[in-house]
Amino acid sequence: MRQESSRKIICFFLSGLSILILLISSIFFHQRIQLGSLFIFTCVNILILIYELHSFSYKSSQAQVLIENCEEQINILNVENLKGKGLAASLKARITRYDNLKKIIEDLNRSLLLDAGVDVLTQSVYSLISARKGRALLFLVNSQAQKLELVRSIKEDNDEVILAKDGDIFDQWVLRHSAPLLIEDLKKDFRFDTDSPASPPLRPLSSVISSPLISHNSLLGLLRLENTESGFFTQDDLRFLALVSDLGAVALENSLLFQKTQDLAIHDDLTKLYTRHYFLGRLHDEAKRCSRLDQHLSLMMLDIDFFKQYNDKFGHTAGDIVLKKIASLMKESLSELNFLLSRFGGEEFLVMLSGLDRNKSLLAADAMRRRIEKEKISLRRQDTKVTVSIGVASMPFDTKDEDDLVLKADKAMYKAKQKGRNQVCCI
Ligand code: GH3
Ligand code: MG
Ligand code: MG
Repeated sequence: MRQESSRKIICFFLSGLSILILLISSIFFHQRIQLGSLFIFTCVNILILIYELHSFSYKSSQAQVLIENCEEQINILNVENLKGKGLAASLKARITRYDNLKKIIEDLNRSLLLDAGVDVLTQSVYSLISARKGRALLFLVNSQAQKLELVRSIKEDNDEVILAKDGDIFDQWVLRHSAPLLIEDLKKDFRFDTDSPASPPLRPLSSVISSPLISHNSLLGLLRLENTESGFFTQDDLRFLALVSDLGAVALENSLLFQKTQDLAIHDDLTKLYTRHYFLGRLHDEAKRCSRLDQHLSLMMLDIDFFKQYNDKFGHTAGDIVLKKIASLMKESLSELNFLLSRFGGEEFLVMLSGLDRNKSLLAADAMRRRIEKEKISLRRQDTKVTVSIGVASMPFDTKDEDDLVLKADKAMYKAKQKGRNQVCCI
């Protein structure tokens, strides 16, 4: 700046000096000196002009460089701004997810029913991670069959049918490694050979995230999201899925234990039929429903004939085998009817038949009696047989009261005993 002003002063001084020389020579000197001083004046001013032009072009090129630098800075700032906005958006999404985590835990804790827990987990990850796009699947391990079972699926296309109900190669991978899986682009993922003739045909998909449901070191199943778009899921999505799966697995294990306890409470240990207590509860509800709808409701009371003698002859363990056999023969014989079966006590069974009138129930009871009579039960390489006596009572034909219905079926059964056993009676 200082240099600039001193340069200007010098130019101004030289230009002024040339004017002064021109003035003095035009007043005091003759024509030749006047021409000489005019020449000097012109030369000095042309040189000043050239010098100014040069410094102007130098300055403008410097200004150009400065403008380019500024533009570059603006571009860098714009990119950083965009990055910042992206980061802010992803942070916002993360905060929303983790805010929702509290609600997921509350929802999971609210219900001890397995179905409700499964529903909360699948719906939550489908909304929070997939934004309700693609598919969400929840598989549970069937410990008896030792395989996966699809228990819940949500699909963008409601009409789509998931054929691989016991999982596919990706699910097998998660089970084998007991670890979460991220596939960003299936075509570029060399862990899976989807073209192999050994692998079953897949539904269209490009990206997958899947996490095992593990609680107390036991593998309960897996939770999986998939999409036809490649790169749909990120590492962060997988982390969140794994977190929800860990929380969900504990809740699902509690539900499974609760279900098991409930099952044990309402099922008889030996025959696996419903207990007397549970049966009477259901009879109460069904009697109300049938009388409201003006429908028939029948009961069969079944008692094994001379079972004490059977026990005495073949032993108590053999008697237990017979009780189990009778339970399965009864189920088989009633399979076409709407029935509920219970071990009412010792060697007595009670059957509830909804919507079946007295005559049809008598026919069904006799078919059952004949089926049991026909069955050979092998005990220690010896073929044995048992017979049963059955009493039948119906609502509203015999009574309109559910407690009386049980008494009447019992009475009818004793009538069958009195009449010589191995028969069906009503009162
Ligand atoms: P009937 O009914 O034809 O009059 O003769 P019954 O010999 O069957 O007579 P009762 O009903 O008095 O005997 C029932 C027998 O059932 C007594 C008991 O030994 C046997 N029993 C009851 N519960 C069980 C059980 O859980 N296992 C076995 N093995 N036997 C049982
Ligand atoms: Mg008895
Ligand atoms: Mg008996």
